[in-house]
Amino acid sequence: MIRDKRRFEKLEQHGGSVKFGNNDGAKIVGRGITKINDGKIRLEEVLFVIELKHSLLSVSQICDRGHDAIFKKHGCEIRRANNGRLVAVGTRISKNLYTLIETSNGSCLLGKEDEDWLWHKRLGHISFDNLVKISSKGAIQDIPSIKKSPNSICSSCQKGKLTRSTFKTKEYYSSKPLELVHTDLCGPMRTQSLNGDKYFMLCIDDYSRMTWILFLKHKSKALEKFETFKNLAKNQVGKRIKCLRSNRGGEFILYDFNEFYHKYGIRK
Ligand SMILES: [Zn+2]
Repeated sequence: MIRDKRRFEKLEQHGGSVKFGNNDGAKIVGRGITKINDGKIRLEEVLFVIELKHSLLSVSQICDRGHDAIFKKHGCEIRRANNGRLVAVGTRISKNLYTLIETSNGSCLLGKEDEDWLWHKRLGHISFDNLVKISSKGAIQDIPSIKKSPNSICSSCQKGKLTRSTFKTKEYYSSKPLELVHTDLCGPMRTQSLNGDKYFMLCIDDYSRMTWILFLKHKSKALEKFETFKNLAKNQVGKRIKCLRSNRGGEFILYDFNEFYHKYGIRK
């Protein structure tokens, strides 16, 4: 819905009325075709309503015309559905209102500040001091002129600088071989072994640090392989595994190690 007649490329008379959320109504004067953002988006059957305060864009119509509308906390994007090309961006101006930033020429839709941030991210979250230096020396082809640090802070950089509090001391120490075994499943590896194995399972005895590497063709073989290892370890060390710990619990829950724990009376 548009209130400015000049924005129509084609306009014909049309009757009827529209009703808004607050129950106010307005008269439809015409209907036509318009293009927004330098013709990047063409819309048909657009209503001409003089009493409107702002032109309103129908998200469903945008999507029906082959675009994806992506709404985020602070803004929105409209992209071509077939190739993902950005055709328009908007900012959120109030609690439930987004406004489209229209460009008057075919230039890049990114704001200057957005572009600086993009370079900050591209270069592995480099400091802005260094970014300004790189830009002033033209050390990278096509880098724009970046003059100063922005006022805002990059959330990823901030997180990266946080320190982590120490881990809780583990509540269980081993005093004998095989009392505690650590295990992890790794893979798939890019190059498979001569046997065609793509995964390996690492088993480390907490007490002796003795390490076993078991190769397997698929993750689903983890339990089977571990049972073999359990018997092997018992023969080699002469003791039974009492407690098995995995960093990646998901893997073992996934492949039903729970039953295994139960069956052999092994603790987690
Ligand atoms: Zn950063």
